[in-house]
Amino acid sequence: MPQRRTKRGAARTPLGGDPDVLICGASFAGLAVARELAGTGADVLMLDRYEIGERQTSACGIPTEWLRALGLEAAARQEFGELVVHTAHGTSKFELPWTFSTFDYRSLCERLNDQNDASFETAKVHGRTGDTVHTDRGDLRSPLIVDALGWRRVLATPGGDHQPPDAPLSRGLEVHPGGAGDEMAIWIDRRYVPAGYGWSFPARDELRIGIGSFNPRFHVKDTTVALAEDLGSEAVRYQGNWIPHKLRDATEDGVFFVGDSAGHCLPLTAEGIRTAFYFGIACGRELRRVLDGHQPRSAALRRYHRFSAEHEWKFEWMLRTQRLVPRIPPRLLGPVIRGVAAPGFVRWSFDHYLDIAHPAFAGAGPSRRTRAAGRLAA
Ligand SMILES: Cc1cc2nc3c(=O)[nH]c(=O)nc-3n(C[C@H](O)[C@H](O)[C@H](O)COP(=O)(O)OP(=O)(O)OC[C@H]3O[C@@H](n4cnc5c(N)ncnc54)[C@H](O)[C@@H]3O)c2cc1C
Repeated sequence: MPQRRTKRGAARTPLGGDPDVLICGASFAGLAVARELAGTGADVLMLDRYEIGERQTSACGIPTEWLRALGLEAAARQEFGELVVHTAHGTSKFELPWTFSTFDYRSLCERLNDQNDASFETAKVHGRTGDTVHTDRGDLRSPLIVDALGWRRVLATPGGDHQPPDAPLSRGLEVHPGGAGDEMAIWIDRRYVPAGYGWSFPARDELRIGIGSFNPRFHVKDTTVALAEDLGSEAVRYQGNWIPHKLRDATEDGVFFVGDSAGHCLPLTAEGIRTAFYFGIACGRELRRVLDGHQPRSAALRRYHRFSAEHEWKFEWMLRTQRLVPRIPPRLLGPVIRGVAAPGFVRWSFDHYLDIAHPAFAGAGPSRRTRAAGRLAA
């Protein structure tokens, strides 16, 4: 069990002030924003209700190249060059043009946090009035506020309710039994979920086995247990959350939204870590230009909003595919998956998929290193 270190009782001193930048949320998105602000000399404050890296928020699978681009390779647990896709009518193997890795959440967050010079405080964020953010430890004011708090979009203007099961949110739940495996596998199988998929991501000495349902009304607990049992694993150490599958406005009422709070998680695959990095970097770069005196806040809001919105058509395509796959009759799904597993198609589709939020954007590392080239370099 992770040890909860968040300050409680008397240790929870009042918090106030007016930092130059206030980043609410210190997971993937918030830490990526803070990284871009390193060296500006600005007073940057990050808030989270938990200590950095304390609460794992996902299965922690990511294109390996993103770990390299951010200098976070040391957090990697296991690397996969193949994706195994199980359906009720057969199994296909996708030879990937680049690799995926699982990583350790705490280690990655701590290493990413080492790359900024922001201050950090644990506080629960309740909401906002104008440029004042209300927390359980007091109010803070800032001209540059970032909401990296996840799908709830806590700092949105009140009234725009975005709650499951009516909002465009998927439901994800996983268990983390001890164990080892060689295959990164997914199950597109209606025995587990009518619209969605199951997964098993090995991470050296543990497995991350879960179910994601595109339909928020479908409860995934029983089938998560069923998949774990089918794989001979125990259903222990649960973690789950809602997963946005629709892009939202990346700015609102003077606030910058990044990661799940802006719906930056990719539909169909529910990959939201690299997109949180990608849009976090984009947001951080705009804020940096404000801090350096190169643009006013209004320009940063406009430019970041436009940058995010330019990706909308890609998110829409992913969403269309998310809606299409569950409509394919099960007996046709096996042959369809075998068809799209053809090496040429896999390379083309996965390269385009990576391009949606490419690691080269991080400004470090090569632009598109193939798996073979990666091996050569190793
Ligand atoms: C079961 C599951 C498995 C997943 N697996 C993967 C995967 O393998 N790969 C992938 O790319 N994506 C995966 N995702 C999606 C991914 O987890 C999210 O898209 C990603 O975490 C978004 O990052 P974020 O920084 O925007 O938000 P989060 O990671 O949710 O971080 C939000 C932060 O805000 C803090 N916070 C929230 N509310 C408050 C508050 N009121 N006050 C103070 N702090 C607060 C939280 O403590 C947290 O640190 C998975 C999701 C689920 C549910």
